[in-house]
Amino acid sequence: MISKNLSKGPISQSGKKFFGTAIHTPICIIGGGTGGLNVAGQLSRQEGVLKHHIRIFEPNRFHHYQPGWTMVGGGLLEPSKAVRYTHKLVPKGIALTSLSVVSIDPEKNLIVTEDGQEYTYEQLVVAAGIVMDWAKIPGSRNQFFTYLCLHLHYFK
Ligand SMILES: Cc1cc2nc3c(=O)[nH]c(=O)nc-3n(C[C@H](O)[C@H](O)[C@H](O)COP(=O)(O)OP(=O)(O)OC[C@H]3O[C@@H](n4cnc5c(N)ncnc54)[C@H](O)[C@@H]3O)c2cc1C
Repeated sequence: MISKNLSKGPISQSGKKFFGTAIHTPICIIGGGTGGLNVAGQLSRQEGVLKHHIRIFEPNRFHHYQPGWTMVGGGLLEPSKAVRYTHKLVPKGIALTSLSVVSIDPEKNLIVTEDGQEYTYEQLVVAAGIVMDWAKIPGSRNQFFTYLCLHLHYFK
């Protein structure tokens, strides 16, 4: 009986089927990279802001300290030192949702994660970073690797 009811679950505002109500968190931060984690840390230290009023959305279990990778390439740092578990970097009390955000509806203060769950907010921080696509620059892929190989050869 329960499963029959569940299979008829409600349709969310985003048009997807989901079985809960929207989860409200006053401050939502999309992206738990350098920017998102810094904003979360700074906001949580502000007077009047409670840590459980903040939620970070970050699908990546691992946080890469990007400047560290330059040193890894130069042989100055072990690769393991440039990577941390994301959840260990999130200040205690702040919620971490380990899913990607797939849509934002600013009119309704509503975001939806990849599983169809809806979240409402009062303030939204978008810190989803950038995705580099070197292949879109003609010839850049070959030039980049030539430079990297020369650099590693001469500065090892
Ligand atoms: C090799 C290298 C060396 C660098 N060295 C330096 C340096 O020496 N000094 C310096 O100042 N800067 C350096 N940078 C740049 C610096 O690392 C970036 O500027 C910084 O990480 C940007 O932070 P961000 O939060 O905007 O993005 P990111 O740190 O990239 O974080 C974005 C996060 O958003 C998440 N995300 C993306 N889409 C979604 C979604 N739909 N839903 C939820 N989460 C999502 C991603 O998983 C990611 O974790 C370097 C970068 C690189 C690559």
